[in-house]
Amino acid sequence: MAESTPGPASHPVDASHGAAPPAPETLDVLRAAENGTAFDRHHPPSAELVSDCVHCGFCLTTCPTYVLWGEEMDSPRGRIHLIGQGLTGEPLSDSMVGHFDNCLGCMACVTACPSGVRYDRLIEDTRAQVERRHRRGARDRALRAAIFALFPYPSRLRLLRGPLRAYRAMGLKRLAERSGILRRLSPTLATLDALAPRLRSVPRPPARVRARGERRAVVGMLTGCVQSAFFPDVNAATVRILAAEGCEVLIPPSQGCCGALSVHNGRRKEAQRFARELIDTFERTGMDFFVVNAAGCGSSLKEYGDLLADDPAWAGKAAAFAAKVRDLSELLVELGPVARRHPLPMSVAYHDACHLGHAQGVRAQPRALLRGIPELEVRPIAEAEICCGSAGVWNVLNPEPAAELGDRKARAVLATGAELLVTANPGCLMQVAAAVRRRDATIALAHTAHVLDASLRNLGPDALLSRTV
Ligand code: SF4
Ligand code: SF4
Repeated sequence: MAESTPGPASHPVDASHGAAPPAPETLDVLRAAENGTAFDRHHPPSAELVSDCVHCGFCLTTCPTYVLWGEEMDSPRGRIHLIGQGLTGEPLSDSMVGHFDNCLGCMACVTACPSGVRYDRLIEDTRAQVERRHRRGARDRALRAAIFALFPYPSRLRLLRGPLRAYRAMGLKRLAERSGILRRLSPTLATLDALAPRLRSVPRPPARVRARGERRAVVGMLTGCVQSAFFPDVNAATVRILAAEGCEVLIPPSQGCCGALSVHNGRRKEAQRFARELIDTFERTGMDFFVVNAAGCGSSLKEYGDLLADDPAWAGKAAAFAAKVRDLSELLVELGPVARRHPLPMSVAYHDACHLGHAQGVRAQPRALLRGIPELEVRPIAEAEICCGSAGVWNVLNPEPAAELGDRKARAVLATGAELLVTANPGCLMQVAAAVRRRDATIALAHTAHVLDASLRNLGPDALLSRTV
């Protein structure tokens, strides 16, 4: 669904004609459309960043779509070439948009690139142009409209919990899986069905939780959309850990989406609206840090300064807010441990969520937390840099290639022989769990917070080994 471009309503009315003049951005869009060029002048991808690419190809083998299809235009280098073509006057064709849409936004190419090419910036600006200027097919528009009417709204997601429970309890899920009816009807429906996690009932956290012992920091906490609706136990574990480590935790129940899904899919105006609302909710709480336990959310929260840079009323507030954002593992390592860790004699495979490892560069901290637990063995996963295929809603929009990537990741995870898979993103947990089930295999799955919480509370390995998603 295309986002509306800034309209005349935001500008003073021209009294002589009784109508407001078009906003400068609107004129850019109209001129670009008339000229048939791919990008208008409202934040086009930067030609300078495009020219940083020296076409060396070091990024190719880490790109999941290139790994799947071996197509140059579905590699980072190919997409940068297409962006360059768009900047030199090529129109935004369906084929060009298809290659941009195929990008998972996993940012493995940013990690791999020796020239420091900011592909993250290029694809984000490109996607915003695509969303404003390209009309997709009816089916795609309807699917995207449904996704963005549901996923960024935790209260709407929570309404699904009852029906999902009933669906499982009545055996319909197993029936659908065995008969393959959903796959025949729609791969998207089958994917949503496969991803649906086992739901746990956990009371919503109170608005304020006091630190245990001496207070070391005041921390605002994002409860998230998918996280709060489908993984409330991750939030509960996060709150317990923070309190045990001397943090007072502030969790305003009125908080909404951080805008990650929107910004990663080019819906910049929607993302800006979510960002302003979230900043407003936490601004006066007096927090020292803002903690996040979902990788995709953390990466976009750290970019709030850029997201609202054009808005003089919000730019400063957004940059100050972004400076306080920490992934849970980052904050805990920064503060240093005070709570006693109890042994967990077991083996775990740690999976780097792309938006934590590639987008935020947070790899050492989660491993440090896990290695700080006595008797816990952390095993590496082969091809760790390749995305599991979740990538926000990419797996819903691209069910078949996403399943291939999920299967590849599941194989690598199971090959470790670890008893538990640990990661820090709800999307990865659901994606890998679905792929493991497809292989008729089993492995327990947990968020990093579950593992640390089990150690702090001396629950023993069984509390984790019974966890399936
Ligand atoms: S973000 Fe990921 S999918 Fe997109 S070009 Fe880079 S490596 Fe490939
Ligand atoms: S993006 Fe970086 S790694 Fe990839 S081809 Fe360009 S310069 Fe090489």
